[in-house]
Amino acid sequence: MLVAYAHPDDESFGSGGLIAKYVQAGVAVYYLCATNGELGTVPPEMASQHPSVAELRRAELDRAAQILGFKEVIRLNYKDSGMMGAASNDDPDSLWYHSQHHFDELVRRVVEVMRRVRPQVVLTFNRFGGYGHPDHIAIQRATEAAFHLAGDPAYETGQPPYAPQKLYYGGLPAAMLRLFAWTMRLRGKDLRHMGTNKDIDFQAVLDHLEPTHARVDVSDYLTVWDAASAAHESQGGGRLMQNNLPLWLRRRLMGQQGFTRVVPPPTQDRVDETDLFAGVSE
Ligand SMILES: [Zn+2]
Repeated sequence: MLVAYAHPDDESFGSGGLIAKYVQAGVAVYYLCATNGELGTVPPEMASQHPSVAELRRAELDRAAQILGFKEVIRLNYKDSGMMGAASNDDPDSLWYHSQHHFDELVRRVVEVMRRVRPQVVLTFNRFGGYGHPDHIAIQRATEAAFHLAGDPAYETGQPPYAPQKLYYGGLPAAMLRLFAWTMRLRGKDLRHMGTNKDIDFQAVLDHLEPTHARVDVSDYLTVWDAASAAHESQGGGRLMQNNLPLWLRRRLMGQQGFTRVVPPPTQDRVDETDLFAGVSE
């Protein structure tokens, strides 16, 4: 299985339970992480202990990867693009800039990874990039394009062609998002301007949720999920995910995680699977 996201923490916050479940089941799970997350806001006392924010976040991802049991973390080492519309989007080293100006090269790098690790199942963000982050959108587009090209013998990378069998969107636990929106509304917060920098449009997140076709039981993996999230201490770690809720309630809310199936295409928008590997052949 190949998980293709943008930042150190996307894997743990979004899919920690799912990854832990499949690793436990014996699946080799690879994480393709497109950037080093250097534009994440980091508490100054933590930043000062590392040569750079990128180094700090690499170390946090290494720790999370150990907890989750990834077979390998593959870093594309693009620069974090920051939030949509920020000047950092125009940095020629940023992932967003590459997705706008060198998209073919970005796709080629993802194809090369797919042909090397040969995943049966590929997981990336939905088309809104979860909450509209440009890096999330960029890696979703590149991953989906690469998914379709990797099996094409006419697309040359010097490696044998290999076609992954299933493609999913995931990334953010929908039930948790809805609960969060509900509690924020109760507190009279403006959903259009959320987050530390007031630049996350939470209403748009809810409006862009895509249909669920696979519902996977991850309820036995919430503590591993928490531990992996806690490894990303500079980004709010476990606190963010636990939302001050007791474990039993979170099992109810987060125990079943939904995924949107892109390939093979669903015949109708309803849940028809409980396992991302359903129907996969050797
Ligand atoms: Zn991210």
